[in-house]
Amino acid sequence: MAKMRAAVVSRAGGPIELVERDIPEPGFGQVRVKVQACGVCHSDSMVKEGQWPGLVYPRIPGHEIVGLVDKVGDGVDWWKPGQRVGVGWHGNNCGHCDACRAGKFFGCTVSLQVTGISFDGGYAEYLVAPAIALALVPDGLTPFEAAPLMCAGITVFNALRNTDARGGDLVAVLGLGGLGHLGVQYAAKMGFRTVAIARGEDKGPLAKQLGAHLYIDSKAEDPAAALQKLGGAKVILSTVTAGDAMSAVHGGLGLSGTMVLIGAVSSMEINPVFLLLGNRSVKGWYSGTAKDSQDTLNFSQLSGVRSMNEEYPLEKAPEAYERMMSGKARFRVVLKVAD
Ligand code: ZN
Ligand code: ZN
Repeated sequence: MAKMRAAVVSRAGGPIELVERDIPEPGFGQVRVKVQACGVCHSDSMVKEGQWPGLVYPRIPGHEIVGLVDKVGDGVDWWKPGQRVGVGWHGNNCGHCDACRAGKFFGCTVSLQVTGISFDGGYAEYLVAPAIALALVPDGLTPFEAAPLMCAGITVFNALRNTDARGGDLVAVLGLGGLGHLGVQYAAKMGFRTVAIARGEDKGPLAKQLGAHLYIDSKAEDPAAALQKLGGAKVILSTVTAGDAMSAVHGGLGLSGTMVLIGAVSSMEINPVFLLLGNRSVKGWYSGTAKDSQDTLNFSQLSGVRSMNEEYPLEKAPEAYERMMSGKARFRVVLKVAD
């Protein structure tokens, strides 16, 4: 049987190791993808550190995948070998099983099929994915450019386009990291009056370069007061994982404004009276479907939104993972698997 190279986690808390594996065969409703690039996402730590309940090891991580359709399984007639496709996080809860009704995200086994968690992902030369998880990658985006858009990109893009902000509205993006540097670009290209908020005046030039019209240094001034001075934000997109930073900025919402959380945090402080008196809200947003990914890719290609990436070969997956976890990468880490 033909073999492939893969980077695999064999047990919770164990290392990422390079191994040889049989190339998997696609079953009914599945597609085999020859991987070209795979982004390294913070959520991969759930595989590495065993934070996903019931995860079966060994597991190949990776859910920011771009590659070529290599072989289609029975029952799949809409994908053809040679098409360039992306595979993202994909998992969505069914919404009506007992676990979903009880609000237990991880407990849904009906439809929660997450790439690189429920089945092997993209830290490998090939993967087999459900055909419905695939998004068509437009010409004009390289695999390296497109890969991080399959998780980081879609999360930010889909969160922004599902708010009720209209062209010209004040939209603030909190944080200028892997998610935030995309958020500022998307907000500006969607036609919003875009404010970037981060810590330190040194981030100002980067914010402007990404398309922000204004920059607020939350170390130098109260970001909520600064947003109110601008009339109050219609939307605040929070990409950070620090509860105090999120708490400090929600007071910058304008009337009927919404703060959208896409970074995971265990708790934040909100002022309920402030929300109530201005019809304001705080809500979360979680990824999207393969069609949403395809929309993200098309919009990015059309508008010139690009992820800034650091590239590592597949052999250096352990280093690439450490680099991502260090928080020092500018801004996403991507494995190059093949040309
Ligand atoms: Zn991710
Ligand atoms: Zn369910």
